[in-house]
Amino acid sequence: MIKLPVCPYCNTVFYYSDVVRLSKKKTGECYHCNKKFKVSKWKGRIIFYFIFAVVISLLDVIFLHITDTKTALPIIAFTVICVILSLLFLPYTVRFYKKGELNKKVKR
Ligand SMILES: [Zn+2]
Repeated sequence: MIKLPVCPYCNTVFYYSDVVRLSKKKTGECYHCNKKFKVSKWKGRIIFYFIFAVVISLLDVIFLHITDTKTALPIIAFTVICVILSLLFLPYTVRFYKKGELNKKVKR
């Protein structure tokens, strides 16, 4: 699941910075074959955050056991750092679809 999206027509690999730029739009254009495609970010993002929430909860529990802390502050700081780091992974959850392909999937 965690990999950068490719062009649905020619399988050209997009760079991280390109994906960041395209993820702000609904449609994009391949720089290799010049065909237009739809940008889908929410489906991957929801799955990512669901897994992320589970992993963070487990890490917080492990963190509590290791540090034997009496305050919540280190946990909050640790969680905030993880959330910030997770933002760097968001482009990896973006997927590109051929135009019309998404609509067909919804109707079925
Ligand atoms: Zn292409």
